[in-house]
Amino acid sequence: MKKLILPLFLISGLSFGQSNLRPAIDQKATEIESKVIEWRRDIHQNPELGNQEFRTAKKIADHLRSLGIEVTEKVAVTGVVGYLKGGKPGPTVALRADMDALPVTERVDLPFKSTVTTTYNGQETGVMHACGHDSHVAILMGVAEILASMKDELEGDVKFIFQPAEEAINEPGVTTWGAKQMVEEGVMEDVDAIFGLHISAQTEVGTIGYRPGPAQAAVDNLEIIVHGTQAHGASPWSGVDPIVTASQIVTGLQTILSRSVNITQNPAVVTIGAIHGGIRQNIIPEKVEMIGTIRTFGDEQQALVHKRITEIATNIAESAGARAEVNIQKLYPSTVNDPELTAKMVPTLEAAAGKDHIRVNPPVTGAEDFSFYQREKPGLFIGLGGMKKGGDPTKTPSHHTPDFYLDESGFILGLRVMSYFVVDYIGMK
Ligand SMILES: [Zn+2]
Ligand SMILES: [Zn+2]
Repeated sequence: MKKLILPLFLISGLSFGQSNLRPAIDQKATEIESKVIEWRRDIHQNPELGNQEFRTAKKIADHLRSLGIEVTEKVAVTGVVGYLKGGKPGPTVALRADMDALPVTERVDLPFKSTVTTTYNGQETGVMHACGHDSHVAILMGVAEILASMKDELEGDVKFIFQPAEEAINEPGVTTWGAKQMVEEGVMEDVDAIFGLHISAQTEVGTIGYRPGPAQAAVDNLEIIVHGTQAHGASPWSGVDPIVTASQIVTGLQTILSRSVNITQNPAVVTIGAIHGGIRQNIIPEKVEMIGTIRTFGDEQQALVHKRITEIATNIAESAGARAEVNIQKLYPSTVNDPELTAKMVPTLEAAAGKDHIRVNPPVTGAEDFSFYQREKPGLFIGLGGMKKGGDPTKTPSHHTPDFYLDESGFILGLRVMSYFVVDYIGMK
């Protein structure tokens, strides 16, 4: 008889020890949904740029403390870390939300529209949550409330990471990525796995997107300086022309993607965005400087592309009697979803959104600093739908634009899936 009363998840082989908490999560998520939307609107109306998220951080810290969660403030400048101890010992699962807004002037006509302005690089601009990080904060505050309500039953601990400055590497007062600094300050040391989400204004509400392995690109800056020998434009044979050499290098770089990269596995991008050389029609200059961006997926491909850029630039220059100096500055690593963890958590995604509402995303050539956490411990970063049902993604304003808009009815799935991640993972280990 005993066998008959075993919960379905055990019989079906989905041995998620704590997935029996899912119904309680669903109920609590429904209860707090409107509160989460209120939080989001308040944060939306009061956006703060990277490393200046003082008001946002205080709101988070106050809320976590009210739930009995241990709080550390000023982590990585303005970050907030909450630690929820479960009733029983077990692994520590980290959940992350980024908090920063962007120098964008909001054009959406909303009652909670941002009217905040600032001076940015000497220019007057509005400040707006034009990437949806306001929703990430509100959702994670909600997840904290859900999980705190069942803490006695949790067979493990939860770390809530509210991180500043995801976008902000070029902003005044920001010298590094929020995630990188969080890692340097030790937030990942006691963590077994980390989960995060990004809302998507181009994905229908109710949908979750994910990609195992490299999902978002590594971003590196490229600089190539071609040194030639200056000459009169009328007698090029008396010098070494760095402009012709630089042109050959630009063309040569295109062969990396067509001839060296295995394009059946992952895409890559090498873009030269600026070329500077010369001053007058009849003077062959001494040097040409080029700058560009490199986007790759995974360490191996990144190393290959860097190697080929250096070989092509150096050898083309040498063949012309010139010299190329190649400088590559690594910025973001690739956002790599641990394949094993991702495979384990697919049933969780399906349970949260329904099998028909899960999709495998194509690789994205943009970057996300969640990658820094994933270099420390296995991590999974998913996309959450925030576009109204039936919307046309090609006609919906994209992230980082003044018309960026989110359908808040998508948040509840975020509450549920992030909470499911915790109870499913800690039950699994
Ligand atoms: Zn963004
Ligand atoms: Zn973002």
